[in-house]
Amino acid sequence: MFGTTIFTHVILTVLVVGPAALIATTSLRRATLMSDELLRLVNSDRLTGVATRDCFFSELAQCEASFGVSLMVDIDHFKRINDTHGHLAGDEVIRSVAERLRQNLREGDIICRFGGEEFLIFLDRADHQHSVQVAERMRSSVADQKIEVDGGAVFVTVSIGGASKAQNEDINAAIKAADDALYWAKGLGRNQTYFMTGALARTG
Ligand code: GH3
Ligand code: MG
Ligand code: MG
Repeated sequence: MFGTTIFTHVILTVLVVGPAALIATTSLRRATLMSDELLRLVNSDRLTGVATRDCFFSELAQCEASFGVSLMVDIDHFKRINDTHGHLAGDEVIRSVAERLRQNLREGDIICRFGGEEFLIFLDRADHQHSVQVAERMRSSVADQKIEVDGGAVFVTVSIGGASKAQNEDINAAIKAADDALYWAKGLGRNQTYFMTGALARTG
């Protein structure tokens, strides 16, 4: 009699608790996957898949102590692409440029879409020499890229401004300096990389 009761309990446990635990675990796993996916969607720019501006700043806020170089990248004469080939072709150009920039990053670097056809990059722990090389690689790999758009193919160039961020320095100061450098790169003829140390990394 006693043995039968224990047996019944064991059977009930296996039949009820087992499936219930399985359902709970599956639901939890599904909820975790959904929230990861939601987080990814919220943090990515919808057109290019790179980080949003908000995500960029929140990631950098978490590593304020780190040093590196910020790069501001802007597509040259982009308005002409829209005017000549249409807005959808313009979107394709922005997407392709983002991909080229991303291909030149290392683990730990961050890229975000800062505005319409502008990207902001942080090269984590990069020194001046390394960042000049990276920026130049990005610039030439964009210039070499043939972008297929509806009704033809286009080539575009980018101008890049760079500035260093020292340990514990405010990232906004480095962004402002990179933006000033970008202004110089545009003024010097576009398709240029300019660093705010005053040294011109490359001319046209
Ligand atoms: P510059 O060489 O001085 O940078 O000239 P620009 O023509 O690239 O710069 P301008 O600021 O005059 O034009 C940028 C254009 O980018 C204007 C805006 O309509 C367009 N734009 C902004 N966001 C998007 C977008 O998401 N998709 C498309 N297709 N165009 C966009
Ligand atoms: Mg532009
Ligand atoms: Mg712009």
